[in-house]
Amino acid sequence: MTTTSAGIATAPYQELAAALRGDLIGPDDPGYDQAREVYNAMIDKRPAAIARCRDVIDVISCVRFGRAHGIEIAVRGGGHNAAGLGVWDDALVIDLSLLRSTTVSPDAHTVRADAGCTWGDVDHATVPFGMATPSGFLASTGVAGLTLGGGIGYLARRFGLTVDSLLAADVVLADGTFVTASEDSHSDLFWALRGGGGNFGVVTSFTFRCHDIGEGGTVIAGPVLYDLADAPSVMRWYRELVPSLPEELSGWIALLTIPPAPPFPEALWGRKSCGIVWCYTGPHDRADEVLEPVRTYGSPLLVGLHPMPFNVLQAAFDPLYPAGLQWYWRTDFFKEISDAAIDVHATFGERLPTGHSTMHMYPIDGATSRVPADATAFAYRDGGWAGVIVGVDPDPANAEPISRWARDYWEALHPYSAGGGYVNFMMSEGHDRVRASYRGNYDRLARVKGRYDPDNTFHINQNIEPAR
Ligand SMILES: Cc1cc2nc3c(=O)[nH]c(=O)nc-3n(C[C@H](O)[C@H](O)[C@H](O)COP(=O)(O)OP(=O)(O)OC[C@H]3O[C@@H](n4cnc5c(N)ncnc54)[C@H](O)[C@@H]3O)c2cc1C
Repeated sequence: MTTTSAGIATAPYQELAAALRGDLIGPDDPGYDQAREVYNAMIDKRPAAIARCRDVIDVISCVRFGRAHGIEIAVRGGGHNAAGLGVWDDALVIDLSLLRSTTVSPDAHTVRADAGCTWGDVDHATVPFGMATPSGFLASTGVAGLTLGGGIGYLARRFGLTVDSLLAADVVLADGTFVTASEDSHSDLFWALRGGGGNFGVVTSFTFRCHDIGEGGTVIAGPVLYDLADAPSVMRWYRELVPSLPEELSGWIALLTIPPAPPFPEALWGRKSCGIVWCYTGPHDRADEVLEPVRTYGSPLLVGLHPMPFNVLQAAFDPLYPAGLQWYWRTDFFKEISDAAIDVHATFGERLPTGHSTMHMYPIDGATSRVPADATAFAYRDGGWAGVIVGVDPDPANAEPISRWARDYWEALHPYSAGGGYVNFMMSEGHDRVRASYRGNYDRLARVKGRYDPDNTFHINQNIEPAR
């Protein structure tokens, strides 16, 4: 425990500081500005205090303190949320970033990850044993927020969303009690945690099922890039191809500017492109046959498919998107990629405002769509794609143009969407958007919220209002 600053020198905060094993950082402490930073540099919140928790008891102390003194509580896992919902003005931030242990069981095919872990931490623990838990497309994203929203990644076609491999979660509830939620214990809470976000308590650790992938954890993966002018034909081919592929092969499609850095050939640096990042997790002796259509279609600028450990693939794009950039993004689910939608993509792809700005669509099919829509809180299970339009740039002066491009693109595309978006890709867009994203599961989520958090203590998130 370090001493606290004058800003949080009042008696209650001093008592909290004394109770914590971790640090309590206030506005006058030297580490405050760094502690309040999150991944998206567009977010500039000034919390009352940031508690760097060291264990479950620290988390319980913070929840009880916030409740007792009427102080808002924000919860920060990996700090990756683009809407910046891990920090909040005048709130007590429960910062879990020091809780980064993993415990792997190769025999049981499980991994337990503390709530401050990134996916890089989890992959590091599991991939050397030839297995992985479905996660996302980057290593630096937090396990906690990604899991609680659903979790869409390379392994979703074959093994489902991250929540489909969640076996149990340890949770500090709004009343300060501590429970383990699983199919057998607090099953309604467990249902809600699998997609319902941080609405129901502070999760302190997750236990996941792991799946054997590739050969000893080595997959065949990488990008295939085409000229942007080919985007309409590539998108039409891709939308027909993906549903016909074995589930060991997945690929997400993007409109992008080819990064001006190795391993991309210098001749392509800065060129606008349509790309698909493929990942094949099946047996290598079938790889040539399965990958043949994706290697040979059209006139690619680059075919970058190589064997690599799965954790290398997961970390491949992290250096291109370091923390501290400006981010503004918008999302929708799409049942299909219609010709009319492709026209919109072609128009806004030409107008990519900066080198980092991009548009991605991730398949929601295979194992993900075999789980019934009401089996977990994640409601959009009926096939299609999760889309995200991402305005990104290092320069704060470009915050407005990247946001405007993303908003305009989203407004033009939204009429062709399925109606709701992936909560983990949403900014703060209001209650109607949250409701639309949970579809028929919203009312049950509100009932579970009413049971576990009737006062809406945990509301700095994509908020579900408690049913009365
Ligand atoms: C560059 C980038 C790439 C991404 N890629 C993917 C991807 O491939 N697949 C995908 O599905 N998503 C992806 N996401 C979205 C990501 O899932 C969300 O941003 C998610 O919120 C990040 O989780 P976090 O723990 O890092 O975030 P934080 O900012 O720490 O928290 C996000 C939200 O979760 C809540 N929360 C965090 N930890 C806890 C906890 N322990 N208990 C209760 N509530 C908690 C917070 O209160 C907040 O509301 C990506 C995001 C970025 C910025």
